[in-house]
Amino acid sequence: MKRRIVLLGPPASGKGTQADRLSTLLGIPHVSTGALLRSECTRGTPLGIEADSWTSRGFLVPDELAIRVIMGWMGEHGTNLVFDGFPRSVPQARQLDAALASVDAPLDLIIALELGDAEILRRVTSRLTCLNCGATFSTSLHGLAVKNPCLRCGSPLERRNDDSQEALEQRMKLYRELTLPVADYYGETVPNLLHRISADQPSDAVFEQITKFVHHSDL
Ligand code: AMP
Repeated sequence: MKRRIVLLGPPASGKGTQADRLSTLLGIPHVSTGALLRSECTRGTPLGIEADSWTSRGFLVPDELAIRVIMGWMGEHGTNLVFDGFPRSVPQARQLDAALASVDAPLDLIIALELGDAEILRRVTSRLTCLNCGATFSTSLHGLAVKNPCLRCGSPLERRNDDSQEALEQRMKLYRELTLPVADYYGETVPNLLHRISADQPSDAVFEQITKFVHHSDL
């Protein structure tokens, strides 16, 4: 059974949903750097305020900041984790590899979710997020609007400030430049651990494919 899993993918490819389900299936924590940064921002911490100055414009936060957040989290929760939204650049991937190698606990599965631009735009512009529990919903699919209660925890739903069309264009540009090469990096360094899956299918079907790779050590 896999214990250290990285989920890669463009905005709205379902990384958060799949990471959540994997975390429940395997009984290990799921860490989302984006959610950690949003929580820092909501609490008004200096780190959150600095992060928001990047994320609200669709930029990635500097590698050093993202690495600090994830290493702090791993220090508290250990290395058996589902990583969602980290690493997002090759330098981050190298740092993660080095940190895990130093405790003899290398990654054992990398899933790259793939989704076309039109579907990304459609999903992002109809997305509502619960800033309390992190659940996401679609205005069209779930018939919900801003400030409606979250179906999971009851807190008011919001549109993320980086889910605007302008911020999305910037996020996609950086995704292509910085994050897509991360899958290629793993394809070169640990080709047997990397699996590419289309995210343009129902969430259950994506999860079924991911779990095949989780259970079979030889895949
Ligand atoms: P997400 O919730 O994964 O879409 O992340 C929201 C935003 O947080 C991203 O658009 C980035 O601005 C920032 N962020 C999240 N993870 C990272 C990371 N690993 N490196 C740099 N910025 C990140």
